[in-house]
This record gives sequence, C-alpha cells and structure tokens, in this order.
Amino acid sequence: MLELRPTCENCNKPLPPNSVDARICSYECTFCASCVDNILDDVCPNCGGGFVPRPIRPATNWKGDNFLGKDPASTNVKHRPVDRDAHARFVASIRQIPPHDR
Ligand SMILES: [Zn+2]
Ligand SMILES: [Zn+2]
Repeated sequence: MLELRPTCENCNKPLPPNSVDARICSYECTFCASCVDNILDDVCPNCGGGFVPRPIRPATNWKGDNFLGKDPASTNVKHRPVDRDAHARFVASIRQIPPHDR
C-alpha cells in the first residue's frame, strides 16, 4: 500500500493526505510540487526517476473500509534536504542517456 508520507523530503512542508501539492516517485519518495519543479527538475534525488501527483486517499468510507480511517497516513517524517549542486550534476548525468535507456 502506498505510504502517504507527512512532509516534503526536501523542505519539510506539510503534505497531508488531501494535499494536491504532493508528488511521488515510483519508490514513494515524496516532495512538494514547488521543490519538484524548481529544485529537483522532475528527477528524484534518491532513484533518478520522475514524479507524478500523489493520489488522494478518501477520508470517507465510500466502500469496503478502503479509506484513511482504516489506513491512515504515515507520521514517519523523512527530511533529507537535497544538495543542489550535487543534484544538478546528477540530473545532468542522467539526461545524457536517452529516455528509454535510463
Ligand atoms: Zn518541498
Ligand atoms: Zn525515488
């Protein structure tokens, strides 16, 4: 199940489960839209993959107990600010490779 992490890993901005600002990579690394757009250049600093908007888990039990009340968001903060120079080099090295060979 997707881990709904509580904050942006870079700036520690709160990202509650209903946030439309949360972005995740395929490993669930979680950042805010501003950091993804302005600092990360849509490259995850942990795995090198891209980001998508994080889906919102329903707060209401619409069907079959599949909702926040039964499966709450994580409270495990992962705050690991990105070294911007090192990340820029990481992005440049990845972008040398054609998209389908990455
Ligand atoms: Zn952020
Ligand atoms: Zn990642």
